[in-house]
Amino acid sequence: MNYVFGPVPSRRLGKSLGIDPIPLKTCNWNCVYCQLGRTTPLTTGRSEYAPRQDILVEVQQALAAQQSGEIDWVTFVGSGEPTLHSGIGWLIQQVKALTSLPVAVITNGALLYLPEVRQELSAADAVLPTLDAGNPRLYRKINRPHPEVSFERLVEGLSAFRREYQGQLWVEVMLVRGLNDTEEALREIAATLQTIHPDQVHINLPMRPPAELWVQPPDEEGLLRARAILGEVVHVVHPAEGDFDLSGYIDLVDAVVAIITRHPMREEELTRALERWTPGQVGEALQALMTSGRAQVVERCGCHFWSAAASRYSERRAA
Ligand code: SF4
Repeated sequence: MNYVFGPVPSRRLGKSLGIDPIPLKTCNWNCVYCQLGRTTPLTTGRSEYAPRQDILVEVQQALAAQQSGEIDWVTFVGSGEPTLHSGIGWLIQQVKALTSLPVAVITNGALLYLPEVRQELSAADAVLPTLDAGNPRLYRKINRPHPEVSFERLVEGLSAFRREYQGQLWVEVMLVRGLNDTEEALREIAATLQTIHPDQVHINLPMRPPAELWVQPPDEEGLLRARAILGEVVHVVHPAEGDFDLSGYIDLVDAVVAIITRHPMREEELTRALERWTPGQVGEALQALMTSGRAQVVERCGCHFWSAAASRYSERRAA
């Protein structure tokens, strides 16, 4: 499978079958906390990055292979910004025709100022955009956007989408210590959220290896401040629990690479996910990953994360 992965345990969507229509790491933002490393290329160009029909065939196969109850959501997410794929509207509609499972789109929301993108996402059951800043300066500092996707366009797009969209709009705020966990920054974010009226606001923390070494989650005080200021509607999201389902793959090494390309994993998570294979098989798979150059191990705060070899981080690799 090239475009479909999982199901993976999602902090917000339970067991999520992922659809990844964008190559690593094509995005219109270059977030300092991005778990996939630095953006290359930084682009706002919408295109058929992968043939839509090929993506759909994989979705059909993945859905057919799953037992009832094994998936909670089908989610467009992955190696870059999914709304850059020009066929995402068609894909959402085709997936909705294939299954009664709810469909979500995890997006940065930067292209929602475009009427056609709002229209294309309207068939999804939930859209989960990002708002990390309440002013243009902090937006540029945290999200490092392409010049075409300004802060004004982001807020304008989110507000317009809220007015038109009938599904669930869940805005994520990723907190970065010293940047958007201060009282001033949080009050500006809260004021911006009040103009958007999302159904929920999810606080998230950079718990996986960030693109920039200096990025840290807020301390307990910063988190409490965020919860207090962003209001009673805030739902604090905790790190994922549960196992990654890698059983649908024939080749174990391919399975691990498919997951860590979109979702770097701590060693403990990886070990847990691989427990269903024998220790000998696990040892061989890890050895193959190390020697084939398909993965890297990145160290942050004493934790080791496996990620795709192509991801570019700002500091040393652990191995
Ligand atoms: S976190 Fe998402 S929006 Fe930000 S750079 Fe990474 S892929 Fe793009």
